[in-house]
Amino acid sequence: MAASEFPSAELESATELLQQLLRIDTTNPPGNERAAADCIADIFRSEGLEPKLNGISEERPNLTVRWNAAPENRTKRPLVLSSHLDVVPADESKWTHPPFSGHNDGTCLWGRGAIDMKGFAVMAVAALTRLKRENTPINRDVIFAAVADEEAGTEHGSKWLVNERPDLLGGDPEYVINEVGGFTVHQKGNRFYPIQVAEKGVAWLRLTVEGKPGHSSLPATDSSVEKLARATAAISASRLPWHAGNEAHDFLAGFAAPENAIAKAFAPLLAHPTIGPRLLPLAVSDPSRRKSLEAILRNTATPTRLQSGEAINVLPGSACVDIDGRLVPGQSAADLIEELKKVIRPITGDAAQFEVLQESPAVSFSKETPLFEQMKKSLLDADPGSYIVPSIIPGFTDSRNYSRLGATCYGFYPLQLPDGLDFAAMFHGHDERIPIGGFHWGIEVLTETLRKFLVTS
Ligand SMILES: [Zn+2]
Repeated sequence: MAASEFPSAELESATELLQQLLRIDTTNPPGNERAAADCIADIFRSEGLEPKLNGISEERPNLTVRWNAAPENRTKRPLVLSSHLDVVPADESKWTHPPFSGHNDGTCLWGRGAIDMKGFAVMAVAALTRLKRENTPINRDVIFAAVADEEAGTEHGSKWLVNERPDLLGGDPEYVINEVGGFTVHQKGNRFYPIQVAEKGVAWLRLTVEGKPGHSSLPATDSSVEKLARATAAISASRLPWHAGNEAHDFLAGFAAPENAIAKAFAPLLAHPTIGPRLLPLAVSDPSRRKSLEAILRNTATPTRLQSGEAINVLPGSACVDIDGRLVPGQSAADLIEELKKVIRPITGDAAQFEVLQESPAVSFSKETPLFEQMKKSLLDADPGSYIVPSIIPGFTDSRNYSRLGATCYGFYPLQLPDGLDFAAMFHGHDERIPIGGFHWGIEVLTETLRKFLVTS
């Protein structure tokens, strides 16, 4: 069956299911993903599959459903289709349509989670249902997972599953398909589809600065507060050194693919540690695009929480700031601390100390796999003339946990987007919504990808 013949009644049911899920408030905290998980579980039950709901608490289960390959066809390790059912909070006063209304304006479905990422949960339901109804002779078990708590630490969700019940994810899945990739990026008249192959690492740090304590009735220019404020400003303004690995090179080359030979030759220079930082402002005029490109070329450090003092009339002996550090592949928290010490040393001298609150390295997966090839092919079939770009994201997803099971994880949530829609702003922003046509297109692309991959590769 060709992608264009996807039964329209099933596309309509998918839209209705997504609308239903958008009307269930799964704001995390507290999450309360139960009702959303139950709603999807009912559908799988009606297709003859056996949904499982497991987690730390009753209200916050992880839904997993395993579709087994016939023993004579099962030659490969499982594939997991993963989504999360929790969403970030929404400030209703800033929304055009209420965030939990599932409003359908004829073009888009509105609601917190439409993009991030109840939409993909529904795509996976629609694709698996279709393939099961076709009795597709799959060569590996396929596991649908809709987890809790991605937006607030993954403790109840993928982290719990990976640590406590990896069996529910197939034990040793070969692949995981997850969020952040597969959507249209319009640039200079060309269409690109990033497929995510890497995520930056995390280095959450605390910087403590010492100073002379005392009475604050006299001005003090070298107090801990004053030094910390200047150090914090210096960190915010810093441009840390560039460390471009293969992931950044592939990303830059991917977006340069439609350019002329000269521009193509220049693309790798953007990754160069000394030329790159100077060339970037000339090569990319849009500041927000520049910011996201820079984030994949270097470590970043963003001060987020300040703390000092007990009383208004006392100079505190120390003050601290928490820093959300993100690491490019190959870098560690210790590397980032060295970079930051250079930035603040002129201000703090040796009176500063860094502490690592949390560290996890970047994750990166091969793009030389049959699944990557198939995702690429399906996208190009569905949008001829577009370009596929292996991508790295500055944030992290559940894939960081799944990688510990030895799985190759990709961000592939196919979604055809019109030019002019600020897609990046949809993630955690106001007025999150999903174009219905692009959502249906995504269901077809995902189904095609799985139909081919699960039979031949
Ligand atoms: Zn998400």
